[in-house]
Amino acid sequence: MIINCKKIANEIISETKPKVDELHKNGIVPCIAIVMAGNDYASKIYIHNKSKACQKAGIRTREIIFRENISEYELMKSIEKLNNDKSVTGILVQLPLPKHMDEKKVCEIISPAKDVDVFNPINFGNFIIGNTDLTPCTAYGIMKVLKYEQIKISEKHCVVVGRSNIVGKPISHLLLKSDATVTVCHSKTHNLENFCKNADVIVSATGVPKLIKKNMVKNGAVVIDVGINRDENGKLCGDVDFENVEPLCSYITPVPKGIGLVTVAALVHNAMKTACFNLFKNK
Ligand code: NDP
Repeated sequence: MIINCKKIANEIISETKPKVDELHKNGIVPCIAIVMAGNDYASKIYIHNKSKACQKAGIRTREIIFRENISEYELMKSIEKLNNDKSVTGILVQLPLPKHMDEKKVCEIISPAKDVDVFNPINFGNFIIGNTDLTPCTAYGIMKVLKYEQIKISEKHCVVVGRSNIVGKPISHLLLKSDATVTVCHSKTHNLENFCKNADVIVSATGVPKLIKKNMVKNGAVVIDVGINRDENGKLCGDVDFENVEPLCSYITPVPKGIGLVTVAALVHNAMKTACFNLFKNK
């Protein structure tokens, strides 16, 4: 079964909207600032989609697009200004940033209370020890997909391919928290095929087009494809050789219109959450 991620994304947004309405009633107007530097076409599409999704839930957005050659200092100064701006309840820095900038350093300056992407190390640490309401967006979206489809995770063997701070690590953590046995693979893993072949659930987030082939997937497995890549013809594709793997799966997510949609919806959820922090501040 090909999972309908659009439906699940809409459901996340519908669940979020009444909570945003409640904030409005309490005099809090959720507003996220989306900061970008440069002219990257894909990034512009992403920020447009993120704005649209937030607006659907009643969250305002402010797109701030700087020129490619803005200095790291200037960009960080503008983020600091947003940190102190009471009308901004969340901040998102669209990656990638221009090459002359240190992305880690820039993202770390976002106030933890406004960090809708959960990039700040304080928030990431709190996420790992279960001490925050904020969950990294893609991991949140994947867990929603598994829950919506009533896919049992407890006692299952989940193989996560990729160990980035943005996707691989957070989703491994949430699967483990849901009582799965989790194997994390990466570029130095020998015999990736053997690990994947034994998986009840595969989550792939590598950025390698069509890495997961049919000989690596057991019959009836669940396959979650996070990758957003271009194939040899420039066509959008995931990490999974979809055409050949799909017939083997009990569930699979497509690319495009897959995990990307629920990731954006998760961002809307987090934008509502950071706005809620203001609710407690005012009391
Ligand atoms: P990173 O480049 O930060 O991490 C990639 C990970 O994949 C690394 O851990 C790397 O291993 C591993 N890897 C690379 N090649 C192989 C290989 N041949 N075999 C096994 N593991 C490998 O990427 P991200 O996590 O940021 O993103 C991964 C993909 O997901 C990209 O296509 C990105 O566009 C997409 N993405 C999609 C999102 C969505 O909403 N759908 C959100 C975020 C990302 P090592 O650590 O050893 O280098």
